[in-house]
Amino acid sequence: MGIEVSGLSKSFRVGRDTVHALDSVDLHTADGAFLSLLGPSGCGKSTVLRILAGLDEPSAGTARINGRTPAQLRGSHELGIAFQDSALLPWRSVVSNIALPLQVAGLPVDREWIAELVALVGLEGFEKAKPAQLSGGMRQRVSIARALVVEPSVLLLDEPFGALDDMTRQRLNLELLRIWTEKPATTLMVTHGIGEAVFLSDVVAVLSPRPGRVLELVEIDLPRPRTPEMMRTPEFHKLHDYLSELLFGRAGVA
Ligand code: ADP
Ligand code: MG
Repeated sequence: MGIEVSGLSKSFRVGRDTVHALDSVDLHTADGAFLSLLGPSGCGKSTVLRILAGLDEPSAGTARINGRTPAQLRGSHELGIAFQDSALLPWRSVVSNIALPLQVAGLPVDREWIAELVALVGLEGFEKAKPAQLSGGMRQRVSIARALVVEPSVLLLDEPFGALDDMTRQRLNLELLRIWTEKPATTLMVTHGIGEAVFLSDVVAVLSPRPGRVLELVEIDLPRPRTPEMMRTPEFHKLHDYLSELLFGRAGVA
């Protein structure tokens, strides 16, 4: 089970033109696996994620996660989503932003569970703060907590830390790893960070420039639990170099 994407194509009509965003994308992972999508800007990464989230329809092909269609997943509240811009409601506090998906789903809001999530993402003491009173990194933590509030079996993350500085990003990647280890979910993360893709993933899919095709599915066979020290091992560097080469060719070193 896991992610089962077969022959996924997507074209957009833009005025009289047609933009071919995706060309027969195939992705397959095991239940509970962490898959990252790497590829140049505009190659259709977010489109894959939007289709899996049921926010967009494919032109051709099928998408299933853990045996469910995107519509079924949404209906059963098993989906957690976080985007690059945290997309929090500015007038709501941290706690009430995190609770929002429960309220939208008509599910009871368990205060203790919300408090646990606040602790999980390290935001104790900021429960009542509004998004404008938080740093970018803190807002992204709120959005990760919000994605987790329904205890999703499927997690879709679109460059969740893309807009942050390297140090904050590194720290949040470690937290994401810890959270994912504690509460495993079948995960698809879009990223342009090769290092974080290697560090977090079981499998990395490298997409071509538009129209996005899967150039290669690369298994990340580093042992778990993963630790920051692994980023300095030859095995890590070998995978990093291999992915760079797929992405940029031999000449282009990122
Ligand atoms: P990525 O996330 O890899 O940067 P996207 O999936 O956002 O790429 O976009 C892939 C291509 O599809 C781009 O050329 C983009 O302009 C186009 N595209 C995405 N969404 C739409 C849309 N709703 N209407 C028209 N074109 C779109
Ligand atoms: Mg995108």
